[in-house]
Amino acid sequence: MELHLYDSPTFRMACQQFDLVADFMNIPETARDRLKMPKRALSVAVPVRMDDGSTQVFMGYRVQHHLTLGPTKGGIRFHPEVTIGEVAALAMWMSWKCALVGLPYGGAKGGVTCNPRNLSSGELERLTRRYTQELIPVLGPQVDIPAPDVGTNEQVMAWIMDTYSLQIGHAVPGVVTGKPVLLGGSLGRREATGRGVAYLVSRAMDTLGIQAQGATAVIQGYGNVGSVAAVSMAKQGIKIIAVSDAFGGIYNPQGLALNKLNDHVAATRSVVGFPESEPITNEQLLLLPCDILVPAALERQITEENAAKIQCRILAEGANGPTTPEADAILSQRPEIFVIPDILCNSGGVIVSYFEWVQDLQSFFWSEGEVMDKLFRLLEQSYMQTLNHARKNQISMRFAALSLGIKRVHEAKAMRGLYP
Ligand code: GLU
Repeated sequence: MELHLYDSPTFRMACQQFDLVADFMNIPETARDRLKMPKRALSVAVPVRMDDGSTQVFMGYRVQHHLTLGPTKGGIRFHPEVTIGEVAALAMWMSWKCALVGLPYGGAKGGVTCNPRNLSSGELERLTRRYTQELIPVLGPQVDIPAPDVGTNEQVMAWIMDTYSLQIGHAVPGVVTGKPVLLGGSLGRREATGRGVAYLVSRAMDTLGIQAQGATAVIQGYGNVGSVAAVSMAKQGIKIIAVSDAFGGIYNPQGLALNKLNDHVAATRSVVGFPESEPITNEQLLLLPCDILVPAALERQITEENAAKIQCRILAEGANGPTTPEADAILSQRPEIFVIPDILCNSGGVIVSYFEWVQDLQSFFWSEGEVMDKLFRLLEQSYMQTLNHARKNQISMRFAALSLGIKRVHEAKAMRGLYP
């Protein structure tokens, strides 16, 4: 099968992972392309009137990976490096993630190639609305439901909900998740991914017999996932000794004071320059000795270059695709490192997105306690299934998670049959 439309390092990586798992599962060659290749992709030119009066055209994408189990689901990324290949890989991972944790969705992802930091609030709003408008034919609560990802937030989701609703003629909260609570968002959605990461870290510590008190964690990426994971882990007694963002990292072996750090980030929009710390590069940060390493930024951070040198006990993948297959091969020779693979580790986000969608469809809203309780139950079940599958078959946690997810999609496709 030719890959040229999607050909990119990240899409090749997703395919390579899939093929390795398909070999292990003995999925026949004839079924593989049907499982792997995205069902639909839409590429749109998004013209935006800039504040200076000029018009700039941005490229936007939405990829829907499979339609077998329900509507498609996945975030929208605003980032300068976005390509259709990256979006397709992220959509494929969403499929395996939703199937692993048992959500009735196929995977999707969207993105606009832009730097949201360089856009004014007005420009960001016009970009979001026009991108949504271009996507109208493929969106809807029963079709495809976006959510936040890198570079997007609740405000962006509110604009998406508004633009879609204006087209339909009435409020349609179920078209997007990660909205403000006032507009039909779910309590706990904003914190769900980071809290889920912290929950699974604590389960992994139980599995390995590591005490939270006095354990150390290093976090790459201090956005919605990394910052909430940091606070939640700190509440368990874990010391956060280093964090970073796109501008650089900070390190304090005594532990960072997160309250003060969060004030600093609110004021300066970066962790860099935080007084009670020393600067550290992103590369150095990944190699710090620690109990828990949380890549919570972009893909392809743990590679063949650094996989032999990382010094953690638990690798908790808050990001999507942070570890390349070459790095995985090296990690398989390092049984002292326990990996919580991305599609399990960061699944708290889409799990609470699912709860948000269900609440929107029934117009009946749950308390934060109810949401969190249901989230942790589902994470617990998915963690135990993955761990048991890995132990029983003597495979890595990543292999176990991917094969459980892929198996469900594979079986569902077989049951529905091939039409005509
Ligand atoms: N962007 C998030 C992810 O990668 C959330 C997707 C969603 O909630 O639909 O899992």
